[in-house]
Amino acid sequence: MSVIELKNIVKRYGDGYPAINDVSLDIAEGEFVILVGPSGSGKSTLLRMIVGLEDITNGELRIDDELINDAAPRERNLAMVFQNYALYPHLSVAENIAFPLMLTKGQYSKAEIDERVNRAATLLELGDHLDRKPANLSGGQRQRVAMGRAIVRDANAFLFDEPLSNLDAKLRIQMRTEISRMQRNLAVTTVYVTHDQTEAMTLGDKVAVLKKGVLQQYASPQELYDEPVNLFVGGFIGSPPMNFLPVENVDGALHSPFGTFSLPEARSAKLREAPRYLVAGIRPEDFHDAAALDEAKRSSGALLTAEVDVTEWLGNEVYAYLPFEAAPEIRKALEELDRDLDGEGTRTQVVAALDPSTAVAEGDEVQLWFDPAKVMVFDPETGENLTRDPENAQRLADASEAARRRALERAREQQQRA
Ligand code: ADP
Repeated sequence: MSVIELKNIVKRYGDGYPAINDVSLDIAEGEFVILVGPSGSGKSTLLRMIVGLEDITNGELRIDDELINDAAPRERNLAMVFQNYALYPHLSVAENIAFPLMLTKGQYSKAEIDERVNRAATLLELGDHLDRKPANLSGGQRQRVAMGRAIVRDANAFLFDEPLSNLDAKLRIQMRTEISRMQRNLAVTTVYVTHDQTEAMTLGDKVAVLKKGVLQQYASPQELYDEPVNLFVGGFIGSPPMNFLPVENVDGALHSPFGTFSLPEARSAKLREAPRYLVAGIRPEDFHDAAALDEAKRSSGALLTAEVDVTEWLGNEVYAYLPFEAAPEIRKALEELDRDLDGEGTRTQVVAALDPSTAVAEGDEVQLWFDPAKVMVFDPETGENLTRDPENAQRLADASEAARRRALERAREQQQRA
């Protein structure tokens, strides 16, 4: 496993359009990194440049400190794990796993090959299936055979390009867990492309969010969620997505279509110099039905009043949809954001994810309670998150790195035992 370093990477295709524009990423040994972004954001281009299937226009790509911009794909020793697993149907599991070693013609003895295949099969829990054919395996087992092929040849890293996008929802979740578990056990440096934010959040140690070829933020899932740098990341990460409410900033008091609220002192001070028209970001789960709260709790937060258009009951929660009119000053920014996010033009409503005990029904006027300390405020012009707390972001980054190191330690101990 290896360290991969991307420095100021640029990719221009024939027509001059920068599909990747000045992207820098450090990928640590054994780290699981996700490249995520809407369609056309440059994820596949970036992955293909790492593997060597696409030239790098500018910048530096290093594996273990070695500059490999011009190295042939073979010399990079990276293992691409393909969507269809590319297994040979007529070969057994053992033969499929051994395949890359067979290709090296004589470099490995029969005994060496057997030893490597058995070791990979043990790590991947395929020991009982070595004589079977791919057609008789489950999707998860096939995925593991494909990973086995990558580990027998001691690849520097695994690369995945949307491996789950053709699967149905249930299988996708199973395979996601499988990939996550295997990556942890093997502790192989992994770069994984997806357009699906849930996949990104559940799999990644770190997630690189791309928009139109530009890296927006490179951080742990929790940091992206709690401390997004801008509107785009705030809106991309989270499901249902963060609500964006247009607000007019009058001396730090925020006037929204559903009522006025203020942020805690530390945050509102920053808003005194901020523009007049802003976007407040509130996550659906941060709203609560005020009718269900006692007086002390109610008065400890802020309240908005809105009319419920539609409700959706999901068993563990109820989504209430509350449409609003956006002031023209802010409408343009919200529409543009929606286009960037590949949205469907539904940004002029708030979604509240309420406790299923709520009595709120369609057509009702509802009072929504929230904790103003959880509100983020964005500049609609630049997209900047004006309420981002860099100290908290650093704490989250440290915690995530510590958790990753612990997992790596555990994997090493386990491998020594195997
Ligand atoms: P993603 O994987 O995020 O969907 P891609 O990396 O496929 O994005 O594409 C990024 C941008 O580069 C897009 O604007 C796409 O049209 C452009 N692009 C991709 N491949 C080529 C190519 N071979 N020639 C020209 N432009 C390309």
